[in-house]
Amino acid sequence: METKDYLKILKEEIHSTVIATVDGEGRPVTRVIDIMLTDEKSLYFITAKGKAFYAQLMENPYIAISGMCGGEGTMNKKVVSIRGKAENIGSEKLKEVFEQNPYMAEIYPQEESRTALEVFRVSEGTGEFFDLSVKPIFRDTFLLSGNAAGKGSGQAEYNRYGQPGGYFITDQCRGCRICYSKCPQKCIDMTAKPFVIQQEHCLHCGNCFTACPFGAVVRS
Ligand code: SF4
Ligand code: SF4
Repeated sequence: METKDYLKILKEEIHSTVIATVDGEGRPVTRVIDIMLTDEKSLYFITAKGKAFYAQLMENPYIAISGMCGGEGTMNKKVVSIRGKAENIGSEKLKEVFEQNPYMAEIYPQEESRTALEVFRVSEGTGEFFDLSVKPIFRDTFLLSGNAAGKGSGQAEYNRYGQPGGYFITDQCRGCRICYSKCPQKCIDMTAKPFVIQQEHCLHCGNCFTACPFGAVVRS
């Protein structure tokens, strides 16, 4: 799947997400926000100019978004998470927001009341998709348009702190299979040395990293 497919899940299947910002004192704040629109490589949400959320976005545009959908029970869930930068685009696309989300007209019935609303676009950032409803679990990473290609890669290796990261086996691997014995998803391909972690199924639990006696597993 590509970026647009994960963004579509976020808007159409999840829709109500949790978005985190930081307040003026650098403390984290979350609230539930609906994803109103998406396109090939961006998502859009709205907020009112009088809200603390608006002030926080204008002060510091970096946000984190998470949402979950699926059937009952944790093992039926799909999760999309994004870290990126929100850009205020004013009333651009506000009409489209109301067209695609008719329930918004119940909250802001008169045109005049909608002047409080402004649209934010997130078009820079990285995302992660996690599907627990399949076995082994499925993980993918994707890029929004401000970053490179924006295509699902299955190779979680952007960087260690900013984004998904992951575990990788280096040439130091001696094929002892200890990592495989500790791996809860059995997602280590042992057909050739060095062994290879199947990133799309990895839980990022770190067992292979701590168990390898030869320091052959690295964390990005
Ligand atoms: S435990 Fe380390 S050396 Fe042994 S197979 Fe795994 S990565 Fe290779
Ligand atoms: S991080 Fe965990 S799930 Fe991923 S390969 Fe290592 S042991 Fe397996």
